[in-house]
Amino acid sequence: MEKQNNKFIFQCVNCGKKYQENETKYLCPECEKTQLSNLPPKGVLKLIYDYEAIIIKNKINIWEKLIETDFIDLLPIKNLKSMPNLKIGKTPIYKIESFNQSKLKFNLYLKDDSQNPSYSFKDRASSLVSAYAKENNIDTIIAASTGNAGSSLASICASQKQKAIILVPSSAPVSKLSQIIMYGATLVPIKGNYDNAFDLSIKATEKFGLYNRNTAFNPLTIEGKKTVSFELFEQLNFVIPDRIFVPVGDGVIISGVYKGFEDLFKLGIIDKLPIIVAVQATKSDNLIRNIENEQFTVKKSNTIADSISVDIPRNFFMAKDYLQKYNGELISVSDKEILEASSELSKNTGLFAEPAAAAAFAGFISYYNKKMLDKNTNNVVLLTGSGLKDINGIKDILNMPKIINPDINELWDLINFKD
Ligand SMILES: *Cc1c(COP(=O)(O)O)cnc(C)c1O
Repeated sequence: MEKQNNKFIFQCVNCGKKYQENETKYLCPECEKTQLSNLPPKGVLKLIYDYEAIIIKNKINIWEKLIETDFIDLLPIKNLKSMPNLKIGKTPIYKIESFNQSKLKFNLYLKDDSQNPSYSFKDRASSLVSAYAKENNIDTIIAASTGNAGSSLASICASQKQKAIILVPSSAPVSKLSQIIMYGATLVPIKGNYDNAFDLSIKATEKFGLYNRNTAFNPLTIEGKKTVSFELFEQLNFVIPDRIFVPVGDGVIISGVYKGFEDLFKLGIIDKLPIIVAVQATKSDNLIRNIENEQFTVKKSNTIADSISVDIPRNFFMAKDYLQKYNGELISVSDKEILEASSELSKNTGLFAEPAAAAAFAGFISYYNKKMLDKNTNNVVLLTGSGLKDINGIKDILNMPKIINPDINELWDLINFKD
């Protein structure tokens, strides 16, 4: 391969082959040819930057310089002005001192990514894809989604004056569908599941020459998601967390978190990676069940946590690679644990997360209950989406009080419950 002129090159996660920016857009052309149906896609691409050049360019105080320039050297776009004029990322982090009346002996931080424009982590990816499209004069973006990626892309495209076409399973939560319509995107509900929507969106991409934001299929989604790691490192005052609990469906968020830290590692800014805990729903544990297997076997997913309900994880190979290379940990949590975690999170912290995000907190609770978190360690839970996105998911634990007359005695009966 010739020396790269561009900012980055692509490298295939499966065969390792490298490509220049103009040689491919989505999957590795070689691996794509040997793809069998009903298996995770092969050939997802990782972006590799010219790390040496970045080090030379920012010789002294490299970390400070990267922060000052909003990490533009580590992003696949030319100019940050191409990003939407919305607040993407830079989400708050909260230190939680106690849980269920016990003071915690370790540090617990919640990274609240519901504070993105469309209320989920997905805006990190959509904004980068949209910025790339803008720089390349593309005005229409298509995506298949279980709900959040679609509502996110719809929001970002609205702000960028781009068109969005969103294919979703018709069973997606109504608030996510409503968002897509309100942002003015073309909503296409599909009779079928996410996999059907995914396949159709790829056919449409080829046939109609559209630009596709599908998670992992478009490698920029991983790059967009990695920014959370830069923020964490900065917000924790340059301490690498001991553990980060991440909810996993397709495995793009977790790969993004790894990629962010890996970029910093390659630049010599950090000297080790955190332990990342992949949290899946027991009823959608396709990554956990298959990570050690030669042959991938699909089990139908069926969890209340719709954003991590995935039959075929689209970024299986990259997530597996990262987890194995950096000694990641895996845990599954039941729907019951997710619902309990959701309620405990809200009551303890004032933060209301959607079930997929509560799953990460359930993973944390499980470690906590088993006393697996050592004194003075730094632990982070990624809260990836707002609870208002899926009210139906928590209906089993919502106890709506009975309606009373505007009468002081009836009110007393209702609030004086301890008596
Ligand atoms: C998409 C999503 C996830 C899972 O991310 P993957 O990249 O599919 O693993 C978790 N939580 C929320 C709220 C999401 O929208």
